[in-house]
Amino acid sequence: MIRPKKSRLISSFSEWFDSVLRKAEVYDYGRYPVKGMGVWLPYGFQIRKKIIEKIRDLLDETSHEEVLFPLLIPDWMLKKEGEHIRGFEDEVYWITHGGLEELDQKLALRPTSETIITYYESLWYQSYRQLPKKLYQIVSMFRYETKATRALIRLREVTTFKEAHTLHENYYDAERQAREAIEIYKEFFDTLKIPYLISKRPDWDKFAGALYTIAFDTLLPDGKTLQIGTVHHLGQSFPKAFNFKIQLKDGSYDHPWQTSYGISDRVLATLIAIHGDDNGLVLPPSIAPLQVVVVPIIPSNKGIKGDVNKYAIVIVDELNKNGIKVKLDDREDMTPGEKYYYWDSKGVPLRIEIGEREFRENTATIVRRDTLEKRVVNREGLIEEVKVTMKMISQNLYDTAWENMKKRIHRVDTPEEAKQLLNKKEGIVEIPWCGREECALKIMDSIDAKSLGTPWPSEKINGGKCPICGRHAVTVMRYARQY
Ligand code: ZN
Repeated sequence: MIRPKKSRLISSFSEWFDSVLRKAEVYDYGRYPVKGMGVWLPYGFQIRKKIIEKIRDLLDETSHEEVLFPLLIPDWMLKKEGEHIRGFEDEVYWITHGGLEELDQKLALRPTSETIITYYESLWYQSYRQLPKKLYQIVSMFRYETKATRALIRLREVTTFKEAHTLHENYYDAERQAREAIEIYKEFFDTLKIPYLISKRPDWDKFAGALYTIAFDTLLPDGKTLQIGTVHHLGQSFPKAFNFKIQLKDGSYDHPWQTSYGISDRVLATLIAIHGDDNGLVLPPSIAPLQVVVVPIIPSNKGIKGDVNKYAIVIVDELNKNGIKVKLDDREDMTPGEKYYYWDSKGVPLRIEIGEREFRENTATIVRRDTLEKRVVNREGLIEEVKVTMKMISQNLYDTAWENMKKRIHRVDTPEEAKQLLNKKEGIVEIPWCGREECALKIMDSIDAKSLGTPWPSEKINGGKCPICGRHAVTVMRYARQY
């Protein structure tokens, strides 16, 4: 399948991204006097709602239960787990005053919820019989980011944090849960036609307080990777910190095991960056608030204006009855060309043009947003044609996105080759690795990139040597320039 080439220069990716957000009226960013915070606009909010519906459905179907915990977490609670607070310390927003009074106890704006949830779990659960327990919430979270903030990519208020927290009687059940979470996220990103690479983060880069972290990364058009989801096996560290034990089957008591996993506003950033083109957004039909827009073209022969409009209305009604989200754009103060531009920028998957010719010949002209391909179809077969074309659009977005990512993952033997590729914005490199931290750190330094981790599920390689120490390589380590 052919798609219109993205003519945008890679070097201007960020300008392009910001202009799409503005043009499509998704998110107003950069004008608020508080850094790292923006406003969801009505159209952006509708897409956000569709994304939330998808993840909520997937979590509900797998016995997760939605809850809502307080936004403010007291100082002592957040500090309970030593490693956790060390990992977040420099990113926490603190509330120190209530009105004019100084609070006796500082309150944190939720940077994540492991501590507050463990605190409540310790009050609610006493026995293995009550487990497993899978909770989730969709909330704002706050991080005082010190790196340059960016719309939907690096925010100080993440407004759509979908965080899940689970509790288990043993290590293996928590591990099984981490695998289920990975499957859920795969399905979620597949629905959005977002390609991903799953890596086990190296120990020096895992979530603060976790046994291990599995991360989903995607590749943006400028050659940098973006972390779009993480799954953590938390072990027993939080229950230990809260002195929280449960009774096991054999009557003994032990600390329960936990996992947590989350996805942020970056989902929409990725959707825009990966599928969009010079004309603006390109949305997969399953997530588009509007799937089809019908534009009547007022004929020069004014005598049949009414007939053309009526014909368009009948088509809109029929699409509606068939469960297709459709809108008639009969605004009279805009030319058809202006309307095409308007809806193209918003990424509506299909446009139907109805003019005098369509009316007389009992046809409709349909235009695909992804390929901009135009076709005249018969009135009788229109509904079927719309449905089939939407499927083709989905498949095309999926195939193109995966293809673009896969061709920019390179397996190389030396840091020199890796650096050359990364300098050319060629995405992700995989280098044989002996498993020792010091070698990976040396490579990161020499190629000016970060490690994404090792492939998940784990991948043994035959042959290959660590280019730093010359030892036999046990796997590969992935590196990329990252957001
Ligand atoms: Zn080595």
